[in-house]
Amino acid sequence: MRFADVLVPDAVKRQLVQTVLSGRVSHAQLFYGMEGTHVLALALAYAQYINCPNRTEEDSCGVCPSCRQFGQLAHPDLHFYFPHPAGKDLSSYNFYNEWREIFTETNGLFTLNEWYRKIGMENKQGIINKDDIDLLMQQTALKSYESEYKVFIIWMVEKINGQIAPKLLKTLEEPDGKTLFLLITANYDQVLNTIVSRSQLLKINRFSTDELAAVIQRKKNCDYDTAHRQALMAENDLATALRIQERTETENEQFALFQEMMRYAYALYHPIRNFEFQSVIQWVGKMEALGRENQKQFLRYALGMIRKCMLKNMQLDQLVPSVPDEEAWIGKFKPFIRPDNVSPFYTQLNTAVKQVEANANSKMLFTDLVFSIGKYLK
Ligand SMILES: [Zn+2]
Repeated sequence: MRFADVLVPDAVKRQLVQTVLSGRVSHAQLFYGMEGTHVLALALAYAQYINCPNRTEEDSCGVCPSCRQFGQLAHPDLHFYFPHPAGKDLSSYNFYNEWREIFTETNGLFTLNEWYRKIGMENKQGIINKDDIDLLMQQTALKSYESEYKVFIIWMVEKINGQIAPKLLKTLEEPDGKTLFLLITANYDQVLNTIVSRSQLLKINRFSTDELAAVIQRKKNCDYDTAHRQALMAENDLATALRIQERTETENEQFALFQEMMRYAYALYHPIRNFEFQSVIQWVGKMEALGRENQKQFLRYALGMIRKCMLKNMQLDQLVPSVPDEEAWIGKFKPFIRPDNVSPFYTQLNTAVKQVEANANSKMLFTDLVFSIGKYLK
């Protein structure tokens, strides 16, 4: 992966190149980029650049044996750690084939949820565990095979279990020889302070709408207006923007579940409507079956829809482009979102995300949610 293949603002790439050219590569760096940015690919491009014997002042060569091995995620001095299911004797290495596959398929642009789906763990929360850290310590102690730097890329470093983190800290502070730790997070506030304080922070911002439109135009070879519309539609999220063509099945499903939730919530407190409690129970059952990661995604989707209604009400229409069926729904629903209930909506949905993360009982959680939302709609 060369910098040229990585879709992040140029300034970020220049900053990384500069660390190499000036000989000031910090051995522990924390890359903070929200999901939907190309942050993982950036880390790989940086690792490849540092180890390329033919690098220029802009990029790695992409063709030397080292670059080729980095590009295929097959370099002996390149190590990845990432969240995986908890379990005895399970480490990132048990999932390395799947990791290479998803990386290759997506060019390094995938979400945590997509990764979990790839390894079939939709109902669990992934961790980076003691076996990972033990393995990592062994690898840091070895001499590098052929490159200048041994590189350890830890994706979603906030998933390191707090109890085992201390083992890693000493290595982060005083690594053996030329070792580079590239720690990646999408949730900066969840990374242990002890890790943050030992790392140099690099923040990868999302593209502005104009920048993203330019990227889409180049990648999809379309006209600027189309690209601009898609950038807006994706809310400046690169991964979403590149996928916009037609809506995915998951999105259709989420929209349907969301409409149902609102319909039942409304009916609870408006007895004229033909209301069946049985429908709520069925809906809760469907939510339960989604699994935790999809439940979280649904709740974020719901937050997005509420925000769109609110912005529509404020006549900031240009900020809220939606696909046509969503657009029609928002048109009808927006009067129900008012200045006095928008904040409880947000709080309720955000709390629900946290409860899902804390393994709350889904049946209770989503039943409560419908009732609370019903109250706000009253
Ligand atoms: Zn090279």
